[in-house]
Amino acid sequence: MVSTFAAVRVIWLWLLPVSVESPLDARQIVNVISPIVLGLLPVVGTTVFVLMCSDRIRREWEHAAATDYLTGLPNRRTLNQEGVRMFDAARQAKAALTVAMLDVDHFKLINDNFGHETGDAALCHLTRVLKEAAGATAVLARMGGEEFVVVLPGVEGEAARHYMDELRRQVLVNPLRLDGQVVSMSISIGVSWRGEADVNFRSVLRRADRAVYQAKELGRNSVVIVTPENDLASATLRATAAPT
Ligand code: GH3
Ligand code: MG
Ligand code: MG
Repeated sequence: MVSTFAAVRVIWLWLLPVSVESPLDARQIVNVISPIVLGLLPVVGTTVFVLMCSDRIRREWEHAAATDYLTGLPNRRTLNQEGVRMFDAARQAKAALTVAMLDVDHFKLINDNFGHETGDAALCHLTRVLKEAAGATAVLARMGGEEFVVVLPGVEGEAARHYMDELRRQVLVNPLRLDGQVVSMSISIGVSWRGEADVNFRSVLRRADRAVYQAKELGRNSVVIVTPENDLASATLRATAAPT
């Protein structure tokens, strides 16, 4: 500390232009200013450190607020923001946008039969399967519990139905294998897409939500489409293929 003080003084003296007109001696100025500068150094250092930490903490908080803690997927809040952004972009470009609501069938039974921890592992496994099957252009989010949403830009109609049926099939043929146990799952999927009359993302999501209820009524493990033109199950696909 003393050597630092001495070094600062020497450098300071060397840098300071000594004016003959100056009423004050340069050494006197240095003697007064050096301790002040040295005293401020830790304060400045600490302030920079605290600012850097608070920035990191803020970013961590933002990430935590946007992400589902269990699966690492975007959460409901992020889905709503992203959905609005994707809907607006699709509307402006007059492009297709499909929204699907996915709900695990009888998930309560998985908790009851295998325990809550295995239930958690099953949700993480399901996330991996869905991510892999959904591809990079789709946004997959966890709405909460055992409910997920897929937002798929550029696709609607038959193509959307095939895409969603493939998600359903992938879940069926990829059970979780854990500690010698096989935890099989199936999902019900409700699908809709952006129509000309839709004013916001929420209206498409609502139709997908209605469709998933119909998929449950149909006996689960199925894909139901509610088109914008007809809210009353205008197209239904029942998929009952056994796991292969
Ligand atoms: P359905 O086919 O009608 O959808 O039946 P379900 O059993 O899947 O539906 P229900 O809404 O009756 O039960 C959902 C269950 O999901 C109940 C709840 O305990 C469980 N669950 C929700 N979130 C989590 C979670 O994060 N971890 C675990 N292990 N279970 C969860
Ligand atoms: Mg549910
Ligand atoms: Mg369920």
